[in-house]
Amino acid sequence: MRGIHWFRNDLRLADNTALAELSARVDEWIPLFIIDPRLEGESGAAGPRARFLFDCLDRLGQDLLRRGVALQVREGFPEEVLPKFCDQIGIDVLSFNLDTSPFALGRDARVGRALERIGVRVLAPSDRVVFRSSEIRSLKGDAYSVYSPYRKSWWRRWEDEPRLPLARYRLPGPVDGFSAGALPDRGTPHAGQFSVELPTGGAAAGRRRLDKFLQGAVGRYHEDRDRPGVDGTSRLSPYLRFGAISVRQCFSRALEARADNPSLGEGIEKWLDELIWRDFYAAILEEHPRVLRENYRREYDALVWNDDPDAFAAWCEGQTGFPIVDAGMRQLKSRGWMHNRVRMIVASFLTKDLLIDWRQGERFFFQHLVDGDPASNNGGWQWAASTGTDAQPYFRIFNPTAQGHRWDPEGHYIRRWVPELREVAPEHIHTPYDGAPPVGYPKPMVDHRKRRALALERFRSARAGVEDES
Ligand SMILES: Cc1cc2nc3c(=O)[nH]c(=O)nc-3n(C[C@H](O)[C@H](O)[C@H](O)COP(=O)(O)OP(=O)(O)OC[C@H]3O[C@@H](n4cnc5c(N)ncnc54)[C@H](O)[C@@H]3O)c2cc1C
Repeated sequence: MRGIHWFRNDLRLADNTALAELSARVDEWIPLFIIDPRLEGESGAAGPRARFLFDCLDRLGQDLLRRGVALQVREGFPEEVLPKFCDQIGIDVLSFNLDTSPFALGRDARVGRALERIGVRVLAPSDRVVFRSSEIRSLKGDAYSVYSPYRKSWWRRWEDEPRLPLARYRLPGPVDGFSAGALPDRGTPHAGQFSVELPTGGAAAGRRRLDKFLQGAVGRYHEDRDRPGVDGTSRLSPYLRFGAISVRQCFSRALEARADNPSLGEGIEKWLDELIWRDFYAAILEEHPRVLRENYRREYDALVWNDDPDAFAAWCEGQTGFPIVDAGMRQLKSRGWMHNRVRMIVASFLTKDLLIDWRQGERFFFQHLVDGDPASNNGGWQWAASTGTDAQPYFRIFNPTAQGHRWDPEGHYIRRWVPELREVAPEHIHTPYDGAPPVGYPKPMVDHRKRRALALERFRSARAGVEDES
């Protein structure tokens, strides 16, 4: 029997569910990656996420060559490439790991139908999350819409059925006649993307990062995770995004670290909580694919957003005059990554201070983030905009200056990313115009107190409209 494993967001050999299932069924195989032009999106083939992906792919190709098999890379629509390729080579089985984003589900259904017509069997197990939405249900059998009860139910399920990494499996032999080619040239980054400094891709780098985190920062994660000036989080999000490491590997390694050293317990518990948020947002998207276009909470559909391209441009460029916001936006453009606390602050600023539609911010993040993921990005944006699953009502409005004082008290993070403020005295770092005016740094573009009042008014009237109608 001959098989193909179609690599997508699972760029690793260990603990790969579909690859393990294929390996148990076929004698020889071909590893395949397909560059789908639809997925390169607006940031293009040279955007930060695509560059990280190609680095991971290159390293996966080297791992495969060490095992005597050559990764094949093709370009085109998978629903056209796969049936032709499978037919030419006489493939019996195609495996891939399930992706529950709406685009992937549609594409995979078309692939499945085309392969069925030529008699190729498809294996598509779940692998990307620990538990799928259908596995975490309330007693009534409903999907959850709020995180805390979801989390409780998630842990109950884990206690019944922990999802540990798979045992080692033997890969089948290669199909003869396929040699490794160079990856297609992806062009050079656009102007402005040259400076994006990316982490090293691949499974080995992901494992090293996990080890380093579990040997160090995780012990203080519960305290440091909100402090952007401290290197206190794992930075594993790009690796999880492309499956260079599996979420099961993260879970089991963290639980082992806790068993070895119980004093790490609090940090580890908090970290696992974040990985459960990842499952939660994947479940929300699977249950409600419409959230990619619409508010999760329909009562805010009547919200009036500002159409203000100049304000949006100032936010994108990190020129708002609010130091913590500007530091975050500049970190994003320079590293393709932003600290989670600051993601929440800049998202709140865009939606509640500038009153700009969360969809504009979500799209900008997606263009720039190396870890850009439809489910987590949408979940994070709708949470911050109060149109999503946040259990708190709309009056959670971050004060960007107070957030700066609280989470970056000495301004280390701000000084790192906003050079115009490097010389500002510590007592003025969050309100630089209270001291000697900094050179080349803008004044705050809005009055937070007034904008807060306006945001409350808009949210209230959007809801009142719905209540009146009902
Ligand atoms: C507006 C906004 C947009 C976001 N967009 C994305 C995105 O596109 N892709 C993405 O992976 N994360 C996104 N997040 C979640 C979070 O900011 C990042 O996962 C985190 O900053 C990654 O850094 P880390 O790997 O050091 O995280 P750690 O703190 O080490 O957490 C470990 C892992 O848990 C997961 N995780 C952590 N926090 C969250 C969360 N709030 N929601 C879902 N998963 C989480 C990530 O996979 C992360 O790598 C967003 C958050 C907000 C507020």
